[in-house]
Amino acid sequence: MSGTDVPPEQIAEPKCPDCGARGMDNIVSRESREKSRTKQPWYLVVHCSACGHVYDVFAKHVFSQPVTPRLVLPKTD
Ligand SMILES: [Zn+2]
Repeated sequence: MSGTDVPPEQIAEPKCPDCGARGMDNIVSRESREKSRTKQPWYLVVHCSACGHVYDVFAKHVFSQPVTPRLVLPKTD
C-alpha cells in the first residue's frame, strides 16, 4: 500500500463545541449505571472529559419498548 498518505491537516480532530478541547483523548465514553437483568448497560454516553459536554448517546441494550435515557452528568466546575 502506498500513495495513500493523508496530510495531517486533512485529518479532522474531534473538537468539543463547548470548551474547545481537541483530540480523541478528550472524548470518553461511560456506560449507564442502570443495567438490565443480564447486567448489560442500557446505553453508552460519549462525552467530553474536560467539560462533560455530551456528544452522543448510544443504546447498548435494545428492548421492544423505547428507553429514554436520563442524562445526569456530574458538574465539576
Ligand atoms: Zn468540552
